[in-house]
Amino acid sequence: MTDRLLHFVQHPFGRRIARLLNLPQPVPLLRRQNAWVDEELAGRSVLAIAPGSTAPLPSLLAAIVAQGGTPSGDGPVRTLVIDATGCRDLAALRALFEQAQLAMVRLAPGGRILALTSAGVMSAAEAACLHAVQGFVRALAKEIGRRGATANALVLQEGAASMESLAGALRFFGTDRSAYVSGQVLSWRKDIEPTIDEERAPVALVTGAAGGIGAATARRLALDGMRVLCVDVPAARQPLEALTREIGGSLLAADLTAPGAVDELVDAVRRLQGVDVLVHNAGITRDRTLARMSPSEWDAVMAVNLAAILAIDARLDEAALLNAGAREICLSSISGIAGNAGQTNYSASKAALIGYVGARAATLDERGGTINAVAPGFIETAMTRRMPLMVREAGRRLNALKQGGTPADVAEAIAFLASPGAHPLTGQVLRVCGQSLLGA
Ligand code: NAD
Repeated sequence: MTDRLLHFVQHPFGRRIARLLNLPQPVPLLRRQNAWVDEELAGRSVLAIAPGSTAPLPSLLAAIVAQGGTPSGDGPVRTLVIDATGCRDLAALRALFEQAQLAMVRLAPGGRILALTSAGVMSAAEAACLHAVQGFVRALAKEIGRRGATANALVLQEGAASMESLAGALRFFGTDRSAYVSGQVLSWRKDIEPTIDEERAPVALVTGAAGGIGAATARRLALDGMRVLCVDVPAARQPLEALTREIGGSLLAADLTAPGAVDELVDAVRRLQGVDVLVHNAGITRDRTLARMSPSEWDAVMAVNLAAILAIDARLDEAALLNAGAREICLSSISGIAGNAGQTNYSASKAALIGYVGARAATLDERGGTINAVAPGFIETAMTRRMPLMVREAGRRLNALKQGGTPADVAEAIAFLASPGAHPLTGQVLRVCGQSLLGA
């Protein structure tokens, strides 16, 4: 779908008109959406600052080098890493203000900021100061969004500051892979050795694979060498066939709410010797205010968005078909966080998934796996194309980047959660929403 304003304001005339009418002036985002490479920071100038400490964590500096980052010297900064683990008193917060202010002058358009704070707290005063960093990052993200730049923070849990662990974080949050992720604060736990079977290509299962985000995800995971089982309704067989031909995957055309469909899916997974990356992406909307919503509209949304996921997981668990180290990703929504008028059914189903991943993380952890939710904001797909014009335009602009995301932005976040470096994230919600003002 075309964002006409985004194109219009790239010309001087368009910019002038936008300024006159006080319209948003989004800039095209710098994106990186190919297969993972060994050195994700290669070609990027990186600055690491450490307010409240004498120097950045040695493991952080080693991680930057390991990922191929080059010191920015006095030049423009494309990745700014703020080691704020020492921001434990007011003087350190003052240093954060001063050092970040200086660094901001050098931040390149589309620059990425990653701040690291700590969960290792000694006193209430320390907790206050470390927490202040989160508010700082969220506010800063809102300021730099108009330049296509982003800022996120990770709260390091005990043992999470190893070189390998921080390198994993930098690969996504320090690069253009996280172009539409901003203003997020996530907990980063201790990393473990990934369970990787080098002998066979990992198997990914993507439901709703014929749709906007599903197809982009299937393509992206295939780029990483995965064998992708693409699932969608029988009516979508044609696009599903074209997709699986393109990426060399396999398909299952089944309505996941139909009797016997979950059995078919489990059989298909068994033939592939289990699943390593499970993406519950299929989802529908049946929007209407609660007063006018029919029971069938409520039931349809619950059946696809929640019941099918619970049934698939229960059967895969029973048959022990989630392989060791499996990654599970559920597509939630900003609507499940903020709520949305006319979407009591949809918001309930998407909020349910946030509760689900939080509770199920322990089960996956026992087998070295993880489960997270991805919550897209406004993404340019068939689902958002169906919105009334004014609602669509508001949805697109109500975020720090003043534009919608693309299915590939969401796919990139899913590919990150499926990658070995993301093991420290589990039971959490990764919002891909350009720092949506909704539910913030
Ligand atoms: P989409 O409508 O393009 O794709 C959804 C796919 O799911 C479709 O191909 C559809 O056929 C399939 N599907 C629906 N019911 C099914 C069933 N019973 N069995 C099997 N497949 C079924 O939607 P999208 O925008 O790509 O959204 C993908 C996911 O992301 C959904 O869960 C959606 O709720 C979520 N999401 C999307 C946005 C957005 O802005 N597009 C925002 C937040 C969350």
